[in-house]
Amino acid sequence: MKNPLFIEKAYINGKFISSKKTFEVLNPSTQKVVGTVPDLSIKDCQKAIVDAENAWFIWRDASVGERTAAVRKMFELVNSYKNQLAELITAECGKPFEEALTEVAYGNSFLEWFAEEAKRAYGENIPSQSKGLRLSTIKQPVGVVAAITPWNFPLAMLTRKVAPALAAGCTIIVKPASQTPFTALALAKIAEEAGIPKGVFNVLTSKDSKGIGKELATNPRIRKLTFTGSTSVGSTLMEQAAGTIKRVSMELGGNAPFLVFEDADLNKAVQGAVAGKFRNAGQTCVAVNRFYVHEKIYDEFSKKLAEAVKKLQVGDGMKKGVQVGPLINQSGLDKVVEHVEDALQKGAKVLAGGKAIKGFFYEPTVLVHVSNDALIAQEETFGPVCALFTFSSEEEGIRLANDTPFGLAAYFYSENIHRCQRVSEQLESGMVGVNTGLVSNAAAPFGGVKQSGVGREGSKHGLDEYLEIKYICYGS
Ligand code: ADP
Repeated sequence: MKNPLFIEKAYINGKFISSKKTFEVLNPSTQKVVGTVPDLSIKDCQKAIVDAENAWFIWRDASVGERTAAVRKMFELVNSYKNQLAELITAECGKPFEEALTEVAYGNSFLEWFAEEAKRAYGENIPSQSKGLRLSTIKQPVGVVAAITPWNFPLAMLTRKVAPALAAGCTIIVKPASQTPFTALALAKIAEEAGIPKGVFNVLTSKDSKGIGKELATNPRIRKLTFTGSTSVGSTLMEQAAGTIKRVSMELGGNAPFLVFEDADLNKAVQGAVAGKFRNAGQTCVAVNRFYVHEKIYDEFSKKLAEAVKKLQVGDGMKKGVQVGPLINQSGLDKVVEHVEDALQKGAKVLAGGKAIKGFFYEPTVLVHVSNDALIAQEETFGPVCALFTFSSEEEGIRLANDTPFGLAAYFYSENIHRCQRVSEQLESGMVGVNTGLVSNAAAPFGGVKQSGVGREGSKHGLDEYLEIKYICYGS
């Protein structure tokens, strides 16, 4: 690939390194090899951790002005390389190029945000209750951070962690998903160009997710583990991290409900449904998984939704006009096929799509009259399938929406302000979209409740995840 940011190496301690053992990265649209990257070992990982700790001893003492200027510089470079980054994202993750550009802008908004926000990591002066004491707090970087990131947002899931970590004064080792290491390596090149010192930002590529994950979660030099991915892997990592009492941030699976009340603006609801469902072919943790539609408007909404879904263009993300790309791999596709077959067996009907196309592509699909005990109601499908259920009262809608161990994002449409307030307070989720299908924003806290995670990313809260509060008591 002719792209100045395309690098088939890992980035450790300020150097792009090769290794004898490598692994291939496939383009999910063409199933052709994009390139190869080093398959680093646990030993390499241990060494990288020592380097990152040594780098931390220096980086933590850099002034906040110095750190935020470097992060700001990364932001500017990402802007100037946006097309090259988007090309890499489309090549390894499959999402349409236009959507990849949107990811670059979104991912970059975290670099911009935290380059500002870290300047406001204020401490406090606390009035003392006894004479002669002065009480104060300061905020200091947590230390060496390990980040394990998924393939669905190869850039944004990194910058959401890397930007606050670097700006706060932490150093970081990122283990990107083995499907999408090239965007991470492109960010390393950008960090290097921005003057981030050696060892401060590292990208460790490896096929051994389990082994490297365990090392990062158990090595005592790592002070914080931040993970975005499935709930089952997150739970394993939390368990492993418990041994050394690490700080953890976990952004895990969702099973987002989308309620359409009888007083909703149906055209807007359809628009929001398409936006909330088909981004990255439904492979986002905030993607709508369950549509609950009030029985009075069920037929009308399903018809309108099916009409909109049938218009979506599926194909290779580099082709103009394509709106929906492929699933990431065979197992991603298999899960979609399994969920649709199961729903059909339990009585659902197809209004649009319903079939695999070729390769890892699946038709944008609308299923109606899906049973509440279908797999799709219980688990994240992570694919381009809208499953429509029905409800007949606000209480029932809320009960069904909350009937899941997950609680990341939830959405609903209603034109009644009182209902909007009531329902948004009662939904058990970390984020609620009211009359919108998209909620992500660098200035707002992103995160889940229940088994969808621990901690928040983005916003002022996302910076605190990388800071410790130190209380200092001055005697007289
Ligand atoms: P997904 O279904 O999105 O691939 P995963 O949780 O499997 O979600 O993957 C998210 C990230 O976690 C990826 O970087 C993957 O390589 C990594 N990973 C997968 N299994 C483990 C594991 N047992 N320990 C640590 N990391 C893992």
